[in-house]
Amino acid sequence: MSVYLFNTKTRSKEEFKPLNEKEVTMYCCGPTVYSYAHIGNLRTYIFEDLIANVLRLAGYKVKHVMNVTDVGHLTSDGDEGEDKMMLAAEREQKSVMEIARHYEDTFFRHTSELKLRRPTIVCRATEHIKDMIDFVKDLEDKGFAYFSNGNVYFDTAKFPKYGCLSGQCRDDLKHGARTEQDENKRNPSDFVLWFTSSKFENQILQWESPWGRGYPGWHIECSAMSTKYLGEQIDIHCGGIDHIPVHHENEIAQSEARLGHEWVNFWVHMEFLNTKAGKMSKSTGGKTTIDTLKEIGYTPMHYKYFTLTSHYRSSAVFSEEAMDGAKKAYENLCDYVATFKAEAKNSVLTQDEIALLDQLKTEFNNYLFDDIKTPLAISHIFGVAKDNKKSAKLRLEYLMHVDSVFNLELSNVEAKKEEGIEITPEIAQLLEQRKEARAQKDWAKSDEIRDKLASLGVGVKDLPNKEIELIRL
Ligand code: AMP
Ligand code: ZN
Repeated sequence: MSVYLFNTKTRSKEEFKPLNEKEVTMYCCGPTVYSYAHIGNLRTYIFEDLIANVLRLAGYKVKHVMNVTDVGHLTSDGDEGEDKMMLAAEREQKSVMEIARHYEDTFFRHTSELKLRRPTIVCRATEHIKDMIDFVKDLEDKGFAYFSNGNVYFDTAKFPKYGCLSGQCRDDLKHGARTEQDENKRNPSDFVLWFTSSKFENQILQWESPWGRGYPGWHIECSAMSTKYLGEQIDIHCGGIDHIPVHHENEIAQSEARLGHEWVNFWVHMEFLNTKAGKMSKSTGGKTTIDTLKEIGYTPMHYKYFTLTSHYRSSAVFSEEAMDGAKKAYENLCDYVATFKAEAKNSVLTQDEIALLDQLKTEFNNYLFDDIKTPLAISHIFGVAKDNKKSAKLRLEYLMHVDSVFNLELSNVEAKKEEGIEITPEIAQLLEQRKEARAQKDWAKSDEIRDKLASLGVGVKDLPNKEIELIRL
């Protein structure tokens, strides 16, 4: 079955064809670990994990690589502003590495609570400095980089495709125009590959390099680590839409300049999660995390379900009302599973049901194969779950299939227990009378009362120790 994905590069939905049938290669820009990932960031990671799952569903093996940015990302996505990691270390009175590890650990705790599979390879920028230096040296040797007043820059004038991903190919390029002027740059859109101490005298993390002691620009890590782990051409590169105009343009320029050919086949970008007031962002204090959601009564699964109700290429608006709706719908889904598990206990599917199950699974899969249409998949799920004409076993098997793709913890839901018998005053009185009759050895009366209890739906079983067990009839 073919998978279709929207490719930012061509601005169209295209049939996905892997470079190598055996394994799909997928690179996703990971977190900058200077603060907690907010739920907007996590929306992007949820969809990236889902894309990998959908490709697995289509029969591919997926090699998913994610970087962890623990050096180099400035408060702008370009070359201006302060170092995000350094600011956090000063704010929290900790070392840069303490900051990095704390936020990285929390990030992976949150993704595991969301039941996202850990990427095949997670790579930290600080552990790949040599790869980045080699990359920059190569660019310099090939004439794409220049050294100016202490920093090494990428010369965007040498790369005619610069800006094309965001639809601003060089001619009408406005990159850099909005940012503060850096006199050392030849073109406004040039960007730093390697900083030396000329940028921040007090930069804590620094490494020796052919250009002097310093540290890498932010963008180079993704090009270096992607090439190292996934090779010179990759199938899919993901990230949030904010990365298109600067970070991903710069990644493309560096990588293709070095490699001399096209680098990424599919660029897949996730739209933003917004608040009613606008964009949710870490740098402007977006504080809603998985932990803060828990404090106000929502589980990670409620949030994951919420994200699936909108398409990844549409923005979504976060609000407590929307979360309440998602929570209710998710709990209903769990309730269906609990009921079906209790009802389907020992049943087996008939031949017709096996064929129908196959068809239902295919319908569900097809929504996902068609550019990950999660809202349509969700309405299909409820259509099946609510259909009383279908057996509990059939519906349960279908929902277990859904869970193998979405990982919503439906398979862990327990079967509904038989509800306890409510002892009404009438039942209590009859039980008392029966006890009395049996004490008097009045078996006829005892049987008569037992029949009355049965007519109320209550069976009575006498146990050896004169105790009784009540059974729902
Ligand atoms: P960062 O840690 O800031 O580099 O961002 C991590 C990922 O989250 C990147 O892929 C961003 O593009 C993405 N992202 C940032 N803000 C949002 C948002 N409000 N909604 C969805 N994704 C976002
Ligand atoms: Zn990146």
